[in-house]
Amino acid sequence: MSATNHTHRTINLLIQLQELHVARVQKRATQPNSRLKQLNDTIDSLMGEIPVEYADQFTLLLGRDTMAIVPLADSSCSACSMALPIGRVNEIRTADMIYKCESCARLLYFPADLPKGVPQKRSATPKMGISRFSHPELMIPRLEGKTAEEVLGEMAELMQEKGYIDDAAKLTEEALKREALMSTGVDNAIAFPHVRGVEGGGLTLTLGISKRGIKFGGPGGKLTRIFFFVTIPMVTSGFYIKLLAGLCNAFDDKATRDLLIKQDDPDALWETLVKVTKNTIK
Ligand SMILES: [Zn+2]
Repeated sequence: MSATNHTHRTINLLIQLQELHVARVQKRATQPNSRLKQLNDTIDSLMGEIPVEYADQFTLLLGRDTMAIVPLADSSCSACSMALPIGRVNEIRTADMIYKCESCARLLYFPADLPKGVPQKRSATPKMGISRFSHPELMIPRLEGKTAEEVLGEMAELMQEKGYIDDAAKLTEEALKREALMSTGVDNAIAFPHVRGVEGGGLTLTLGISKRGIKFGGPGGKLTRIFFFVTIPMVTSGFYIKLLAGLCNAFDDKATRDLLIKQDDPDALWETLVKVTKNTIK
């Protein structure tokens, strides 16, 4: 294998490891009693494939927050925003080795083909709670899709149509890749599909409801009905964990989930979401 191919493989492994690490933090925050052995074993075995020159640095960074390897965003580090000289950007693109950000020490990679977020207009009044991340126009009370690909596609297309992301097909593809690594379906018929590293816009949440439920890889093969699909810029990664914990908290009991599932128009779904998350998402 050439140095470049080798580095690409290591970068992919590091990105997967980072996702699994976040998934573990997330599980600890939302399902304190869940068993993590399988996840821990997967993390250990992938970690064993990381060359030693990157492994220590990576582990050190992951202990600090959830961003150890981050994509460039417009020639800057997407974690700390430090601009990089064009020569270094090209070296990172070529990937004959993995470079560190000189400002924050995180490992850097060139984003292959991620969708981009679209900046939103600032509203005159400061937003509160779930309104900071979502909008009535991002509510789908009746998903038509019958597969993971179809429901994620429906939600991604709405995000593109309403001007939050630039490429629904890419977003769907990336979200499916993340699901293949480990399903984001949890107990309680809820799933949290997401794509990290979507730069340009903000953290954006789209809510879709499948009245009948679909197989989404949740525990015990149970059907998933509630989908919180989120695009996550790198800098909001840590905040995403809090958002997840807030959502899990709000929808812990069946009556609240049923209330959400039975809504039939986007405005009513939005009002319900705002109301039930009022105390759990600040
Ligand atoms: Zn940096």
